[in-house]
Parts: sequence; structure tokens; C-alpha cells
Amino acid sequence: MTTPATPTTSWEYAPAPESTKVEIKSQYGLFIDGTFREPRSGRSIATINPANEAHLSQISEADAADVNLAVVAARRALKSWRRAPALERAKYLYRIARRIQERARELAVLETMDNGKPIRESRDEDIPLAAAHFFHHAGWCDKLRWASPTADGSAPEPIGVCGQIIPWNFPLLMAAWKIAPALACGNTVVLKPAETTSLTALRLAEILQEVDLPPGVVNIITGAGETGRDLVAHDDVDKIAFTGSTDVGRAIASVTAGTKKRLTLELGGKSPNIIFADAAIDQAVEGVVSAIWVNQGQVCCAGSRLLVEESIADEVIEKLRLRMRSLRVGDPLDKNTDVGAINSRSQLERIEGYIRDGIAEGAQRHEVSNATLPAKGFWCNPCFFTGVQPAHKIAREEIFGPVLAVMTFRTPDEAVARANNTMYGLSAGIWTSRGSKAYEIARQIKAGVIWCNTFNQFDAAAPFGGYRESGFGREGGRSGLSAYLA
Ligand code: NAD
Repeated sequence: MTTPATPTTSWEYAPAPESTKVEIKSQYGLFIDGTFREPRSGRSIATINPANEAHLSQISEADAADVNLAVVAARRALKSWRRAPALERAKYLYRIARRIQERARELAVLETMDNGKPIRESRDEDIPLAAAHFFHHAGWCDKLRWASPTADGSAPEPIGVCGQIIPWNFPLLMAAWKIAPALACGNTVVLKPAETTSLTALRLAEILQEVDLPPGVVNIITGAGETGRDLVAHDDVDKIAFTGSTDVGRAIASVTAGTKKRLTLELGGKSPNIIFADAAIDQAVEGVVSAIWVNQGQVCCAGSRLLVEESIADEVIEKLRLRMRSLRVGDPLDKNTDVGAINSRSQLERIEGYIRDGIAEGAQRHEVSNATLPAKGFWCNPCFFTGVQPAHKIAREEIFGPVLAVMTFRTPDEAVARANNTMYGLSAGIWTSRGSKAYEIARQIKAGVIWCNTFNQFDAAAPFGGYRESGFGREGGRSGLSAYLA
């Protein structure tokens, strides 16, 4: 009889790296009026792989003259695009969605190389959801009069030329969230991706060429904050849709105030994830993992404050510690990887600063110990803090990294008070086996999106957006269309 192997808590997996055979040009121009062109500025920015610091490409840096060219092209294209039959617009959106599906592997690999997120997430979440947004909005094109009824029953009018600025955490997905509803409603677009993650937006530009989208309907201009500022300040832009940090959102709001520009802001968050004693605890612990460690915690709606009912706190913390230990941190292109690289050195330094603050304020840090982190690249082990006070910096400020602050509560009222004790209001999670309690708590929480017994679930038909300092306006579903209709 053979002796059974001793159970072990660490399993070795055979590496399962995704092939990196995707074409990346050494230099990308700006996508204006249907073609790639050299920037007038003559400047470019390096884009690197945050998992190994390898140089991937040079992207152009648009200056005010380049921004103007893109806006002029969008204005010219608007004349015919807004009058195009609804089904004609839908045809293009369907084509884009299908092409994203057909090129999904390539887009997923590119996203992972440029952003640092695990291939499992870019392959199974980001890219399919990006395609879903185009499919969903294709279906709306000829139904806008029901989405937003007008007095005489005619189809509602688009706003016009939309300047759209997006961050680096979900690069292609954010581009899809912005472009799809704008086009469905008959607007034209000038999109500025984030400077560290422009490659999939530029690949999307190639897809727009492949599907013969009329020139100028979508223009993609790359560059850093200065390019975004030029776009916001341009006189001939009718609407700004911004997703990014609350500080930049505030600056944009002050520039657009007093002008005729429409504005929607999708900003930061510090979302509560509340576990009641009557919850299914193992399921809730899994929910904590997807709330804070997906995409290395670089998620605006991450459940970064865990509120646990005091009577089950020890059990939840112990289970969370065990579960955290099983996370595989490392090469984002390996299909076994759960937690990849932080997007940039500056973001890593920001996260490390918060971790130091948490320790200095007296909270206890529990972290996954992984001795095999790659030598190069930007890495941060997932961790959580116990002994956190509501006044601590790690409980108040958005960290935008894999760092969780755990606090406890005694009564439902205290849970609500602690959940709402924030300047933000983007999302929340409630874990309970009682539907009436979930409803009662959700009613009192000030957040744009509330999940019950799950977290970080997205659907093109479900509106997403914030409250308070997390911004205003919705993206997705019928509510998201109103942000693009006059
Ligand atoms: P960021 O605000 O620094 O940058 C976002 C984008 O704005 C980038 O494209 C950047 O180049 C551009 N930008 C920078 N300064 C600008 C200016 N003065 N004028 C115009 N554009 C400017 O944010 P980030 O660090 O890229 O992203 C992280 C932040 O985004 C986090 O706070 C996160 O919560 C937030 N976010 C929110 C949502 C949401 O839907 N609410 C989604 C994703 C990310």
C-alpha cells in the first residue's frame, strides 16, 4: 500500500504563458480623420511593459494644434454622422463589436503587456465586456426615441463633438464605455487614452479603419495630462466625458464651468464592502477577493473598506488570510496568475506610501508572502490591514492598489454610518442571507452602484456611475444614453 502524499498548501503549477506574438509598431501616430498621422508637436512618449519594464513602443504626444485637427475632423464628420439612418450607425457598431471579438486574443495580450493586468482578466473580462458595450449600443441606435422621449415623438438629437478622456486601469473597456454610447446617439468623438496605456485604443483605431467607419467620426489622440487639458479647453467641443481621479475631475469642472460644454465625471472611490453575521462567509470572502484584488486593486469601485460584523470578524479575517495566501502574484501573461503588476512606478510609489502610512498609524499589515516576484517591474503584494480606525489615512483616501482596510461594526446602523463616512459614493457591497436586510441597508447607503452577495459585476445594460465626490452622470444602459443626447 502506498502512503498518501502529505497534503500541502502550496501547489506548483506548470507555467502557462500566453504567446506574446502580437504586432506592436515601434512608433504610433495620432488617429485623426480616419488615418494615422505624425503629430505636429513632433514629440512622443515611451510606453513600457510594467511587468518587466521592457520598452514596447513610442506613442505620439498631441499638442494644441494636433487636438485642434482632431476636433475639426470630428466637427466635419458630425454633419453626416448625426443624420445617418439609425440602422446605418448600428451597422458600424455591430461591425466594431464583431471585430473586437475576432481580434480578442491579440487585444487581451496587448492589454496585459501595456497595463500589467493578468491575462485571465483581460481575456475573460475586459475584452468581452468591451465588445458587449458595442453590441448593446448597436441595439439602441434605432430606439433612442424610447430611451429619451421628445415632445413631438421625433428621435432625440445628439450633443455634437464629444471630448473623452480615460484612465489606465481598464484601457480598452473605458474606451468602449465612452465611444459606443456616443456613436449610437449620433455624436462624434475625440478620445484621449491614458499615457501609459494607449496601445489597445490605437489598435481599436485600426479596427475602425477595417470596418470603414467614416473618417473623423472617432479620432484618437494620445498624450499626457497637457493633451487632456488642451482637449477640455478647446472651444469647439460640445461635451467632455472624463474618467479619472477626483483631483483632475475637479480641475476639469472648474474649466468647463460657465461654458456651454456638457460634462460627465466618473471619478474615484473608497467603497465599503459590508459583511453581516448572517452572510454565507466563504462566499463573502471570495467576494472580498474580487472586490479588492482584481486588477491589483486599481479599480475605481474597488471594495477597499471591508466592514465586518464584530461577532464574525475573527473568522472572516482568518479565512481571508488563508485565501490571500493562495493568490498567485507574478507574470501577468501566465494564465495561472491572479495578481499582476502595478501599472507604473509612480502608482507603485503612491501605494507604498499608503502602506507606510498605515503602519505608522498603528494598523497591522497582513500580506501575501511571495518570494518569487520578478526582479524587474512594478510589484506590490496584496495585503490587508486590521486595527484600522475610521480616521486613518488608509481608511479615508483612495489608494488604488491591492490594499484593504478592515474595520468592524456592531449594529446595522453603525454599518451604514461607517459605510457613508466618506467623501466618495461610487459603489458598495452587502453580504447577508436576508433579502429584507439587504434592501434596507442598500436604501441607506450613498453610492451609485450597490451589489448584494457579489461584487464588481458589470453589464453593458446596467448603469454605472457615482455620487458625491465620485462624480456624476451614468455609463451603460438607458441612463447612460442621456449623457450623449441633447
Ligand atoms: P488621472 O486623473 O491622473 O488621469 C486620467 C486621464 O486624465 C488620463 O488620460 C490623463 O492623461 C488625463 N489628465 C490628467 N490631467 C489632466 C487634466 N488636467 N486635464 C485633462 N485631462 C487630464 O487618473 P488616473 O491616475 O489615470 O486613473 C486613476 C483614477 O481614475 C482613480 O482615481 C480612479 O478611481 C479613477 N477611475 C474612475 C472610474 C469611474 O468610473 N468612476 C473608472 C476608472 C478609474
